[in-house]
Amino acid sequence: MTIPKSASLALIAVAFGARSIAAPIAPLPEKIPLAVADKQDSQIPDRVQLTGLLGTRIAANEANRLVKVDTSRLLEGYRKRPGRQTWDGEHVGKWLHAATLAWVNTGDAALRTKLDETAAALGACQLEDGYLGTYLEKDRWTAWDVWAHKYNLIGLITYMRCTGNLAPLPTCQRMADLLCKTFGDAPGQLDLVSGKVGGHMGMASSSVLEPMVLLYRFTGEKRYLDFCRYIIRAWEQPNGPQIISRLLAGQGVNKVGNAKAYEMLSCLNGALELHRTTGDRKLLDASLNAWQDIVNHRLYPTGAASYRELFRDDFDLPESNNVGETCVTVTWLQFNSQLLRLTGEARFAEQLERVVLNQLLGAQKPDGSAWGYYVQMKGKKPYSSTLDGHCCLSSGPRGIALLPTFAITTDRDGAVVNLYDAGTAKLTLHDGTVVNLKTETLYPAEGRIRIAVDPQRETEFSIKLRVPSWCESHSISPEGANRGADRYLTLRRKWKPGDVVQLDLKLKPRVVIGDHLCQGKAHICHGPLVLAADEALLAGANITLEQLALAKTAPDGLGIAPQEAEGEWRTWPGAKLYQVNADTRKSGAPFTTRLVPFADAGAAGSRYKVWLPVAGQPVANLLLDGNESRSRQGNVSGSINDDDPQSHVTTFDGQPAAEDWFAVTLDQPASVRRVAFLSGNVYHDGGWFDTSTGKPRVQIQRNAGSPWETIGELTNYPATTAADGSALKHLQNRFTLDLPVPVSLTAIRVIGVPACGDNPKQAFSSCAELQAFAN
Ligand SMILES: [Zn+2]
Repeated sequence: MTIPKSASLALIAVAFGARSIAAPIAPLPEKIPLAVADKQDSQIPDRVQLTGLLGTRIAANEANRLVKVDTSRLLEGYRKRPGRQTWDGEHVGKWLHAATLAWVNTGDAALRTKLDETAAALGACQLEDGYLGTYLEKDRWTAWDVWAHKYNLIGLITYMRCTGNLAPLPTCQRMADLLCKTFGDAPGQLDLVSGKVGGHMGMASSSVLEPMVLLYRFTGEKRYLDFCRYIIRAWEQPNGPQIISRLLAGQGVNKVGNAKAYEMLSCLNGALELHRTTGDRKLLDASLNAWQDIVNHRLYPTGAASYRELFRDDFDLPESNNVGETCVTVTWLQFNSQLLRLTGEARFAEQLERVVLNQLLGAQKPDGSAWGYYVQMKGKKPYSSTLDGHCCLSSGPRGIALLPTFAITTDRDGAVVNLYDAGTAKLTLHDGTVVNLKTETLYPAEGRIRIAVDPQRETEFSIKLRVPSWCESHSISPEGANRGADRYLTLRRKWKPGDVVQLDLKLKPRVVIGDHLCQGKAHICHGPLVLAADEALLAGANITLEQLALAKTAPDGLGIAPQEAEGEWRTWPGAKLYQVNADTRKSGAPFTTRLVPFADAGAAGSRYKVWLPVAGQPVANLLLDGNESRSRQGNVSGSINDDDPQSHVTTFDGQPAAEDWFAVTLDQPASVRRVAFLSGNVYHDGGWFDTSTGKPRVQIQRNAGSPWETIGELTNYPATTAADGSALKHLQNRFTLDLPVPVSLTAIRVIGVPACGDNPKQAFSSCAELQAFAN
């Protein structure tokens, strides 16, 4: 969007409602000044208009998601309590937050009307005593209704401050007053972190901290600050999540509360808002410890940060099995944005680039209409546009709507460019100078970035640019840039209208070698983009996604070359696919194929994967990509070949059986030297193998469809009977078979006699993992 200079053009644009020349939005001021001044200033979204890859996704988010949301569905649980499920009340507040930011960005009149109507309609659902949740009176404060109040406050406070319409203020204060009256550590008050009030060791309910801080600053009412201080105390109760004390003691986030990632990061975002308000340094220090722990131990290449919704053990990052919840992606983005504002350090902007360009855009369907819940390192993108049970569908749009607030900012010295995208920024520096920046670039597809600098008059200030840590060489003009302690490249000089900054970041392909669970595999990055193989791009190569391997691990041997994307892959003007030398796992006939940025992988419903094996090199677990089966379907739907013991299966169907088996079949023969079997859950009525007539056997098929052949037994499986499985523990027992010489097989299974426990009318067994290794 350009800014017309002539008055007549401006008048025409006003008539058509274009935000860029309408009066800038001035959010209503807060009554409480900040104790800690931000080192970088979050921008009001109308100041920053992006038009490149990010701009394309921002426009799609507004046009195909936020504008089209059925607001009667958002309000349904409030109009007819209880809602269709326990946390259905969160959606309206999350929508109000995202849609307000989107309206500020574009000035879309229809969206504003929808916002006004929805904010008023939500307020009309408030009960006499201030309650604005979706629960019946008898069920109040039992699971997720403090949580819904949190999002109603976030949405309505954002709406009020940006639109200037204070009508919802009494609604917000009555909600907050009810919370202050109900919860606390005085006699007769409820314990906010009690398991009876909300889940996840109180982290869900107490994440109401963030909007309570915002309401305190907006209204100046001290009782809201007192409530925030109560929350910090409640966290440290013996039954509380002990968020601050554990992080300050150097414990990982996996040891805080119950390790639930979305709720914990939501609490930390509130803690940082409170630090900004009161100056309490330990809240910032604890958050910095959490950030470092996540970056060091718990982050996927794309910036995803959870599996099965939790922070798990160090480097316990399986490729699939409920990996990468989008709510976690967005709260991680918010956490980095908070830390960037408070510290002004480029390392937080670097994490923002990583999570935005890969995991966040990868979770959004490129046309903006749908979002994925778990967006994993391999599989299919689970796009959905139905709110039922889909917390992430209202989280993802918030992440996109926040992009203009931190893509380009100001600081004490001048302007800061955090994310490179084509577009314009109209910035007011700390000394009041207005500076327009116009960026021309096809980044992240190309590394050339041209920024036209247009201050209202010749003025000395700094422009800070970010050189990502993956970038080995760059050039910049004009000369004279210095790298500061904040790690930005700083150009300080007298700028005048017509000046141009030209930054060239060399975008080289990089091969990242896997470790831990991804040992034996590699993935490829190009610049900031994580690339993935997509089965839709294998058409014609005559191999499956499972057979695909990288030809080499040296970037030179892979011949990686960007090409213009065509057809449905052309999701924005700079879209590229990346040619690469490929092979099959067994190193047969090399060929070339193309990889696609994770953001667009699987967009048409095809399967994709980030981590790829390398031709001729075995991956650690040879069964990972095989097809699993079992003697009976059972009643637990997990997987036995995903390297994740938490995801397990049983054969329980209420019937007896003489034998049970768990099998994995491969597309290609594999040479196996070691087999591991991890038992699953042990129940009162079965779940193990009865060894009274023999240990479980390992059988193989040498060729597809050939007879099963026993190659050994799991000799270290403990002695059990049909009724007694007490020698086994839940999901903790691993049994191995080491073979004297490797055997070639196309299928493998473990077979044994199922046990009945205390119910002899039936019998069943369980399995968490079946693995096979080359050595
Ligand atoms: Zn979610």
